[in-house]
Parts: sequence; structure tokens; C-alpha cells
Amino acid sequence: MSTPTLGVWKFTSCDGCQLTLLDCEDELLALAGQVRIAQFLEASSAVVGGPYDVSLVEGSISTPDEAERIQRIRAESRVLVAIGACATAGGIQALRNFADVDEFRSVVYAAPQYIDTLATSTAISEHVDVDFELRGCPIDRHQLLEVLTAYLAGRKPDLPDTSVCTECKRRGLTCVMVAHGTPCLGPVTHAGCGALCPAYGRGCFGCFGPMTNPNVPALTAQLRVLGMAEDEVDRVFRTFTVSSFERER
Ligand code: SF4
Ligand code: SF4
Ligand code: SF4
Repeated sequence: MSTPTLGVWKFTSCDGCQLTLLDCEDELLALAGQVRIAQFLEASSAVVGGPYDVSLVEGSISTPDEAERIQRIRAESRVLVAIGACATAGGIQALRNFADVDEFRSVVYAAPQYIDTLATSTAISEHVDVDFELRGCPIDRHQLLEVLTAYLAGRKPDLPDTSVCTECKRRGLTCVMVAHGTPCLGPVTHAGCGALCPAYGRGCFGCFGPMTNPNVPALTAQLRVLGMAEDEVDRVFRTFTVSSFERER
């Protein structure tokens, strides 16, 4: 059997999720013995043409060129995994979806006529079929390794789809919302980070996106009890995965 090939692709993103792959260090060396890394420009300028057994796609679709390029990558990939909040939900740059992108362009850029952009920033799954979505901003390295080893072994990844609250309770952390009245999206956010923010006394910002069947209305009511005004509630849901929480509201 030939060695499986891995491609890593960047769209509109900050590269942080690709850096998580580089951060796997020892595991990456072991992985490199089992796969042929055919395309990973963050790590090497050497490029091998497709097809690819597994493609990891970072970033959202926010330009006409990207909308075309993702079609080509899909056609060349046996398994396509979207990694990170940008690729799975449009990312923080999807804030433009609720604004006038032409106004942004004219205010932000000195020469806006050279900026070729779409009016929206959207998830990879809104453009092509996606085999798996790995959440987070950035993704969690342990979850990434599980996804890679699962697909290389020909099985489905085994990742929890419960809430951050379950991880928080398992760690025995004090609830920042109950104890301190700190707004926290943990009750509706997909598990995977190990309740990172509550472990540092902060509320969850929802960077892993909605869990399966989130009860967003109930959390919204609790945020109002904490004294948040409607515009504050809107802002707390409109950060890393703005579009996906909007769909649940
Ligand atoms: S999901 Fe976050 S860390 Fe990953 S590329 Fe997007 S902005 Fe960067
Ligand atoms: S701190 Fe947040 S994540 Fe932890 S139990 Fe409370 S609401 Fe849930
Ligand atoms: S606690 Fe929430 S915001 Fe913090 S890393 Fe986890 S999912 Fe992201």
C-alpha cells in the first residue's frame, strides 16, 4: 500500500491553526513517518501535486479566488477536514456579514480599488462537501492528532460533542458565571478545549462554536439576569463563530 498523502491549505485566516499542527512536534515526527506531507507551505516550500488522501483546510472563503480554489482542492482530496473557527464558521472576519463591506473597504484601505473581496466570509462547508469539522480558535492539538490518526486508520474521529460545561465540571473548576456573575458561553459551546478560559477565571467566548442542540435561548435569558443589555448580549454571541451562534438564536 502506498504512503498516504497529507495536504494543508490556507484560506482567509491567521495561520494559528496551522501553527497548532507544527506545535505537535514529537507527534508530527511520528506522523511524518506514516504520511507523506505533500503540501504544507507553513512548514516547507516543497510541494507535491495531488491527489491527496487527507486535506486539512484552514480559513474562511472571503474572496472570489478562494471560492474557486476550494473547488479544486475538494476535487483532489479523498477526505477534507475543515480546521478552526474560520474554516468551520467564517471566523471573526464574518462580522462583515452583518455590515456594509464596501464601507469597511473604503475606510480601512488606502487604495480600496485593489481589494477584491466577497461581501461575506463563510465556512468551507457552505462551498464544498466537508468530511469533518474540527472546532476552535485555534484548534486543540490533541483533537487534531485524533482526527489525523483516525482518518489515516480509516475510522471516524472520536471527539465529544457535549458542552464546555461538562469539561469544566470534570476539572472541578468553580463556575465563573455562578460565583462571580461573569458571562460565559460554556453551556452552549462545543467541548474540546478542556474549559481553558474558566480555568483562568474567565468566561468562555464560544470559540469552539455551538455544541449539538445548544439551548441558546436559556443562556440568553441567564445573560439578561446578569444585567446584560440586548446589544451586549448580541456582542457576546458575535465573536469567533458569529454566524453559527446567530443560526441557533
Ligand atoms: S480559527 Fe483562529 S487560530 Fe485558526 S486560523 Fe482562524 S483566527 Fe487563526
Ligand atoms: S464557568 Fe462557564 S463553562 Fe464552567 S460551568 Fe460555569 S458556565 Fe459552564
Ligand atoms: S473556554 Fe471557550 S473561548 Fe475559551 S478556549 Fe474553550 S471554547 Fe474557546
